[in-house]
Amino acid sequence: MKKVTLLIPVYNEEAMLPTLYQRLIELINRNSTYAWEILFINDGSSDRTLDVIRQLRQTDSRVNFVNLSRNFGKEIAMLAGFDYTTGDCCVVMDADLQDPPELVDRMLQYWEEGYDDIYAKRRNRGEESWMRRLAFYSILQKMSRIDILPNVGDFRLLDRRCVLTLRHLREQERYTKGLFCWIGYRKKSIEFDRGDRLAGHSSWSFFKLLNLAIEGITSSSTAPLRIATVCGILCSISSFIYAIYFLIKTIIYGDQAAGFPTLIVVILFLGGIQLFALGVIGEYIGRIFKETKRRPAYIASDYNEKKLGYDE
Ligand code: UDP
Ligand code: MG
Repeated sequence: MKKVTLLIPVYNEEAMLPTLYQRLIELINRNSTYAWEILFINDGSSDRTLDVIRQLRQTDSRVNFVNLSRNFGKEIAMLAGFDYTTGDCCVVMDADLQDPPELVDRMLQYWEEGYDDIYAKRRNRGEESWMRRLAFYSILQKMSRIDILPNVGDFRLLDRRCVLTLRHLREQERYTKGLFCWIGYRKKSIEFDRGDRLAGHSSWSFFKLLNLAIEGITSSSTAPLRIATVCGILCSISSFIYAIYFLIKTIIYGDQAAGFPTLIVVILFLGGIQLFALGVIGEYIGRIFKETKRRPAYIASDYNEKKLGYDE
């Protein structure tokens, strides 16, 4: 029997879990030709999420969980999930039922047809802020070299070989949507309507989103460095032309000490560009700094009831 893992990162989802579990069980009963695993990654929840998961596990041995030692964020929680899945394929989904489990039936059909990465593409986006749409699907798209598919989230079915590949991509500042595209393999999209969150509330704050956007850009592209270089070149060329203009003007009309405002404007403008370029370079150096420390991306404290040390 082929085994399907449902990989679900959870962070403060105690209100959502019972309903979610119900829907998952319906899905599992509809597809009893497969063996199933429900793998929860508890991303350092501060509410009773872990207790609820433990209870579920007591009555249902298909439920497994990894408990992270603190909140690492969804991107890292997914990596932990990839490390612990045991299935022949793995479905990544959110806990808030914004990703309808009913779609998994169709994903499984395509998987049987030989596709490796079947991703859900939203026809509409459910409840989402304008900020987010702007940050991601317009800016990010233009900046990065690999296509990051618009309207596609993390909800997808991955064949085991995709999972094994993703295990090797262990960068700490992760932008998983970009990684899914980067690994390639046979992809297939399915369209669906994204609903609103059923309970609890989205844990993305403005700064978390801004961080993810910057991460998305700097992790998949060096375009900002290129932009800084181009700005520098344009500034040099225009200041050179300006200098020649002044030289000729002085030769023809003599020396004039006027022009204080233009001077200030030029100085401030150049200062601004320099700071911007420094900031951009700093972003990349910061990433290099983080990666060179070679810390593990996350620390798991328990797998099911087993306590884990550092290397397990
Ligand atoms: N999540 C997580 N760690 C976090 C934030 C969120 O594991 O730090 C999980 C959360 O429990 C949910 C999924 O990631 O299962 C998506 O979170 P959310 O619904 O808040 O995000 P959105 O739907 O707005 O993208
Ligand atoms: Mg959500």
